[in-house]
Formats: sequence, structure tokens, C-alpha cells
Amino acid sequence: MRRYRVTEALIYKWRWRFLNGVNLLWVSLIKSCHGSGGGFSLSSSYRLKSGVWMRMVNLVWNLHNNGKIPFDSMRRQVGNGVSIRFWLDVWVGDIILKARFLWLFAMAVNGEAVISDYWVGNSWEIPWRRSISGGVLESHLQQLHEMLDSVHITDRIDLWRWSLGVEDMFSVKSARSRLDLMSFSMGDSPTRWNISLPIKINIFIWRLILNRLPTRSNLHHRGIDVSTILCPCCGEVIEDGVHLFLKCSMTRQLWLKFARWIDLTVPSFNSIEDVFEWIDSEVVANARRLIIDTTCATLIWVLWTYRNALVFGIVKYKKELMFDSIVSFSFNWFCSMNRKVKKTITGWLQNPLMN
Ligand SMILES: [Zn+2]
Repeated sequence: MRRYRVTEALIYKWRWRFLNGVNLLWVSLIKSCHGSGGGFSLSSSYRLKSGVWMRMVNLVWNLHNNGKIPFDSMRRQVGNGVSIRFWLDVWVGDIILKARFLWLFAMAVNGEAVISDYWVGNSWEIPWRRSISGGVLESHLQQLHEMLDSVHITDRIDLWRWSLGVEDMFSVKSARSRLDLMSFSMGDSPTRWNISLPIKINIFIWRLILNRLPTRSNLHHRGIDVSTILCPCCGEVIEDGVHLFLKCSMTRQLWLKFARWIDLTVPSFNSIEDVFEWIDSEVVANARRLIIDTTCATLIWVLWTYRNALVFGIVKYKKELMFDSIVSFSFNWFCSMNRKVKKTITGWLQNPLMN
């Protein structure tokens, strides 16, 4: 198995080589056959099953989809900003600026602009449809400029950097350590059973860990025709488990709210395994682990329910109600299975770990 992980790391290196080999002949050839993203990018609506290159691309996508190496392990490093889209690529902060500042994006003259379009004579000049003064828009504009102030535009070409290593450069060694770690934390046991949760939720979590949920990306990979593979909540990124349950902007807000609720610092997770690794870590004291496991699993399940309501349009499920659902479902499940523990719904609402 270990040798196989070295092979996986070596294969992953091709994504790095491709992304940073802008001027190389073979990269141009690949682009002419498989599009500007070489099959790695989100814009390719389908990926072929045959050919040496596409077999390799599909292996890379398997590593993304099962959470072994997150898609955003490669991040843009801004040089002259000529090849990075200002609103539509991730280059400052963790998400695209369009998603962070949706209203400002709507006001931008050219949503497809690259960074260098807005960097004029050493300062930022973003043309707007009309002048922005006062109100929410102005405060968003201020936040945007605060973010932009942290970026240095140079005259070097834009690069990609590797976010999982000690340095910005990709190394097979760091990729392999990640793969070793992931296979270790996934372990041999296929299931983690939580006695406070109904059987269907335990099975749901089990399927999630095995990456067997019918997300759009998974359906697409099984050759099922889906109208779109983008996330139904944001419409920006391919919908896989990692995006839907951890990375989508709506999801992140929910996790932040969750962290405030239980009054713990919840790290930013890069894979589903990270969540359970964190729950099992020493950070969470033993007696409270069951409550955190229960509430986390409920959060993930409520998200899935919301997502399904959105996709299938069966019932209207308001986004604002998600948090209330997490509180009430987890309370009912926890109390019906742990009758000796005295909890009240008001205490639970304040902080399930304290009251
Ligand atoms: Zn999304």
C-alpha cells in the first residue's frame, strides 16, 4: 500500500507540472487536446475515460474526491495578475471574491476581469456601474480594499503554490506524507457508531466517510447524466462532499455559528476525515466528545437535507432554519438515548456542552 501511495504522489505531481508549465510545449499540446485547464479545471464539463493523460487526470480527481488531497491544495500566487480572474479565481482569502462580495460583483463593469485589469499605476482602480457611496456596499468596498492591501502585485508571472508542504513548491515527499496520514486516519474500521444518533444518521455518516453519497460529482463519476455538477447552494464549485459539507460559503457560516454555539475553536477542515480526527483529538475532552460528535453529525445531516430540498424542490426549506434544526434534532436524539443526562432545551440552545 505504501508503494502505491508513492505512485499516487508521483501522479499528483503532474497537476503541479501542468499548472506551472505555462510556456512549455507539452503543456500547450495538452491544452490543445483537453482545453485550457487540461482536464483538471472545473470548466471542463466532462472528462474522457481513455488516453494516458486523461487516465492520469482521473486518478488525480479520485484523490480530490475521496478527500486524500484537497482540490485547493494548489493555490494561486499572484505575480503580475495577468492570468488570474479577479472575481472568479481564488487568490486572496479562501474563496472567490464573487462569492464573498456578491453585491459588489453585481456592480462590477466586467465580471470576467483579470487582476491586472484593475491594477493601474500602482493602485487599485475597479470600474463600477455607478459610484458607490454609503450603506452596505460602501462597507463591503472598504473590506475588499483591506483585503487587496495585503497583496503585492509584481512583474513576475503568476504561479501556483502548494499549500500542503512546508514550502510553496510541490514535493512528492509532502504529498506522500499527506497520503500516509489520510490512509492512517481512515483506518480499517469502516464505521464509527454513535449511540446517541438514530441508525439512519449513523449509516449516512458511514456513507459520507466512504464517499458514497450521491453528490453531483459522485453521480457524474459513476457515469450518470446530471444536468450540472456544480454545487446547488452556490453554483460556483463542483459539488463533492468536501465542498458541500466543509467549504461552501453557506456551510462555512454554519460551521462558524456552530463553533460559537459550543464555544470551542473549530479548525478549518480540508477533508471529511479532518472533522472526525478533530472530534477524536485531545482538544475535545472525553465526556464532551459524544455531544460534539452528535452535534457535528447532525449539522452535516441537516446540510444534506437542505441540499436535497434545494435539488429536488420537494419542500421549501429555509436556510435560516438550518441552525434551529441542528439544535432541536441533536437535542431530541441525544436526550432520548441518554436518559440519565439531564439537559433542557434552553440550556442546550445556549451551549450543549455547558448546561
Ligand atoms: Zn457551494
